[in-house]
Amino acid sequence: MIDLRSDTVTRPTPAMREAMWAAPLGDDVFGDDPSVNALQEDLAARLGFEAALFMPTGTQSNLCALMSHCQRGDEYIVGQMAHTFRWEGGGAAVLGSIQPQPLAQQPDGSLLLADIEANIKPDDAHFARTRLLTLENTIGGKVLPMDYLAAASELAQRRGLVRHLDGARLFNAAVAVDAADPYAAARRICSHFDSVSVCFSKGLGAPVGSVLCGSRDFIKSAHRWRKMAGGGLRQAGLLAAAAHHALDHHVRRLAEDHALARRLAEGLAGVPGLAIEAPQTNIVFADVSDADRAAGLLPFLKERGVLATGLYRLRFVTHLDVDAAGVDRAIAAVRDYFKA
Ligand SMILES: *Cc1c(COP(=O)(O)O)cnc(C)c1O
Repeated sequence: MIDLRSDTVTRPTPAMREAMWAAPLGDDVFGDDPSVNALQEDLAARLGFEAALFMPTGTQSNLCALMSHCQRGDEYIVGQMAHTFRWEGGGAAVLGSIQPQPLAQQPDGSLLLADIEANIKPDDAHFARTRLLTLENTIGGKVLPMDYLAAASELAQRRGLVRHLDGARLFNAAVAVDAADPYAAARRICSHFDSVSVCFSKGLGAPVGSVLCGSRDFIKSAHRWRKMAGGGLRQAGLLAAAAHHALDHHVRRLAEDHALARRLAEGLAGVPGLAIEAPQTNIVFADVSDADRAAGLLPFLKERGVLATGLYRLRFVTHLDVDAAGVDRAIAAVRDYFKA
């Protein structure tokens, strides 16, 4: 099987398992787990924040971030297809009493600055209090340009909004910006935000975990929400050690995933009835022009040992457990389907 459904499907490498096995452990609810503390301190320092907090999932990380930035009756501005709006069960509204103000995304994944500005509500009892701008990078596999981040950040600060980045795939963006020094690129991206959430369970290849970064006060607040949300883990160093190993060893190699995504897109180019979007990172989107034809594709691929997803659009994601031979098999299977 070649599993292109998501970069979450990776299994820990032997070296990562070694790191987990060797990790010194303690009770993280008491703040006593040295491996958790080391990961939090190291990531905060690398990304230019005062503090960080290990989280079981990216969803909980974003939720605790939103609940720390916003009070009941506040509002966050967010993209229509952003994870923090569409893919988190409405948690900010359901659990946080925070109103989303979703905006249409541009083809490059950005929100128009004019749209953001037009949706900041006046201080009036009719309106929710617009408090937060939330962006995502990468978004749908696309990298938000650095000058866009600077402009959006400037607008938010000018209008008194705090800024959160859902950086589930921050390091994919960083590698796309500067493959030679992705850690510096990640830090530059983060410089435009008050808080950032990073997933280790995606392309970085750890089994579990995200880390939320921000100011010391912000992290103190997020820590309280994390406990309330049931995210206080005990000997979590076992998991933090995997994430730390990924931070040290799996960032630069994301460039290989990006190259495989390009290989896949190039291999699928020119198939009649299939429109391929050129990938910027590790996600290839494809649109099948004929709906009936689209319905049969995923079952056909599965029979040929290729897994993909297709909720809104057909999606193929490359990752640590995919190689060039696997990608070539996926190309051949898709081509056979459209030939038949
Ligand atoms: C995966 C993902 C998350 C968090 O997902 P979890 O499965 O809860 O860890 C958040 N934002 C984006 C953009 C993601 O892709």
